Amino acid sequence: MAVPKQKKSKAKKRSRRANHDRMTLPNITVCDNCGADVQSHRACGSCGWYKDRVALVIAQDDEFLDDDEI
Ligand SMILES: [Zn+2]
Repeated sequence: MAVPKQKKSKAKKRSRRANHDRMTLPNITVCDNCGADVQSHRACGSCGWYKDRVALVIAQDDEFLDDDEI
């Protein structure tokens, strides 16, 4: 088994982790249908638009709080 010849310094280790283990922001684009901010390759959360068609049916607040169904 290959064994490292020398111990990596704290600076070397921290420099590697600062780049390799960093958190990144998701890619944000604009919805073609409504203009809202959307994560790329995901359906729009406000209108359900994805790839030039409606991919999700977004429920309105009234539908959740209908008294007849509760
Ligand atoms: Zn949209």
